[in-house]
Amino acid sequence: MRAAAASRQVIVVGAGVTGLLTAVECARAGHRVTLLDRGPVPNPGSSSSDQHRVIRTLSADGADATGRMVAAHRRWLELEALLGAGFYRRVGVVTARPREQLASVTAAAAAAGVPVRTVEPQRLPHLAFPAGSAAVLEADGGVLLADRVLRAAVRWLTGHPAVSVRPYSPVVRIDVDCAHVLLAGGEKLGADLVLVAAGPWTRDLVEHQVVLHRQTMVYLRPPADAARWWRTAPAAGGIGADGRAWAMPPGGGALLKISSDAVAREVPSTSGSTQEDQAPWVERLARAAPLSGLERYTVAAVKECHYACAADTGGAVLARVGPAVWSRAACGGSGFSQAPLVAGRIVDALMKGAA
Ligand SMILES: Cc1cc2nc3c(=O)[nH]c(=O)nc-3n(C[C@H](O)[C@H](O)[C@H](O)COP(=O)(O)OP(=O)(O)OC[C@H]3O[C@@H](n4cnc5c(N)ncnc54)[C@H](O)[C@@H]3O)c2cc1C
Repeated sequence: MRAAAASRQVIVVGAGVTGLLTAVECARAGHRVTLLDRGPVPNPGSSSSDQHRVIRTLSADGADATGRMVAAHRRWLELEALLGAGFYRRVGVVTARPREQLASVTAAAAAAGVPVRTVEPQRLPHLAFPAGSAAVLEADGGVLLADRVLRAAVRWLTGHPAVSVRPYSPVVRIDVDCAHVLLAGGEKLGADLVLVAAGPWTRDLVEHQVVLHRQTMVYLRPPADAARWWRTAPAAGGIGADGRAWAMPPGGGALLKISSDAVAREVPSTSGSTQEDQAPWVERLARAAPLSGLERYTVAAVKECHYACAADTGGAVLARVGPAVWSRAACGGSGFSQAPLVAGRIVDALMKGAA
């Protein structure tokens, strides 16, 4: 249980999932929040804005990482109730694993209390598995309907008396020593704590050793004979010939979506993405062969999205970059589903500052 904290002024830069959920948690903890975004809120140009994002409960990175995923999963269930919106489809997540790893993966899951079972590839006929693999099904994983999450959080925040949501407020500089934020119009704001959650653009505002990536995603309509199977299909990872592809099932208003690490590439900046020809990347994704009979699916849309990961670990970055300034660079993989944990860390930091 948390002790009551003195009310603090918090500025959150960036209204993607990280900024929105941090604003929610700070307001719930009794703090005053100003949420700034350079565009509309929610911003369709944010890396959070999409039809869906996967949420897992089991990590390949060990027991601590699995513990964090389970904690985030629990928090998402609470957020659905708090924000008064249905945005979590608990359809499960299957991940292809080499058969020789199945016993150790299921034992690790059992030790962590995460419900999993193995599934033979023939039970998942529209997904293509690497040779010699079988699927591990995480029953508690599934799909977060991302745009619904963002809209629900914005609705909650705009109705909260201690929160000021300010769209079209680009931040041009952060003074990390004094926790001051300078807006493009010349306005200067100060706070007890600043979180810079500007996604792949965080590195433009604060020093971060991150590598920027762009990834192509393809949205599909299944052929008529597969549509019924897809209605209750799980999300899938580790699929395709090389085990680097993933698929997000259709449902809840979302289309089927596929991508692969094979179509993630390092880029110097986010600019110029709209000029890039996506056709070669779509072809490369087709060669990754994540689905059986992919040629029978209809391409409904193609989109690219950016993420930044730590130059040394390749993982997510949440750093304290000044006495009262924190920053989060949007990572790939689990950045959306882990956002409630970032929010929790910021509320904890405020508690410690108030002690
Ligand atoms: C292809 C792809 C697939 C992914 N799949 C998954 C998945 O399945 N599951 C998962 O958990 N994660 C996934 N992720 C990662 C996840 O989407 C991101 O980590 C997460 O959405 C980042 O959210 P954010 O709020 O930190 O940043 P963003 O959503 O990018 O929000 C940043 C906000 O900051 C604003 N901003 C930028 N600069 C300024 C400025 N100067 N002043 C004011 N505002 C500014 C932007 O307008 C934007 O609204 C995926 C990522 C990619 C690229």
